[in-house]
Amino acid sequence: MPSSKSVTATPFCKRCFKPIKVASFRGLFGISSVCYDCYQELGPKWTRWKEGKVDCLALYDYNEAVRSTLYQFKGVGDIELASVFFAYPLPILRWLYHGYTLVPAPSSPSHNEARGFNQVVEMGKVLGLPILQAMVKDEGAKQTDLSAEERTAVGKMIHLSSTKAVKGKKILLLDDVFTTGSTARACLRLLLKAGAKKVRLLVMAKTQFKGR
Ligand SMILES: [Zn+2]
Repeated sequence: MPSSKSVTATPFCKRCFKPIKVASFRGLFGISSVCYDCYQELGPKWTRWKEGKVDCLALYDYNEAVRSTLYQFKGVGDIELASVFFAYPLPILRWLYHGYTLVPAPSSPSHNEARGFNQVVEMGKVLGLPILQAMVKDEGAKQTDLSAEERTAVGKMIHLSSTKAVKGKKILLLDDVFTTGSTARACLRLLLKAGAKKVRLLVMAKTQFKGR
């Protein structure tokens, strides 16, 4: 468990290492780990849509700045970057998802072992919600290696480890990148079927398809 460091007098941005000018309204919520310039560079879009009846929100487009920061975080393993994606609009996110339990979208166990951490879990910690790691993905289900036909089978590789833990709860499913949405949709179906009181989806970035 990473220790929650106490806030120092001069906070530095975890992305660009420049000192952060603290806006006064942040006093209530603590200090962001990312500066305003970096937040703007990541290009927040706040895309909202529905998957069935589920309210979905993507904070960013999957653009170059997001891609390279995500690569540094999950590819190179710079865990300090875990919080930067959600840090700036944290007060709004905490208000939106107050009372929810966070369920991270699954990634295969071997990828987590190779990396030393689960990137979605690390990314979600900053939201301050209880975390329930209930979604499990079978080995060998790496999405980029699959054909379109095989991707529809992705749903079959995803399981809920405990339906009891989900029943009656307000669940926020969190994923890092929403591309085809097959993984997220499979998770949402399972969560609803398990009797979650309410389900919402938050993704860090969404791929924008042309013509949509
Ligand atoms: Zn910065």
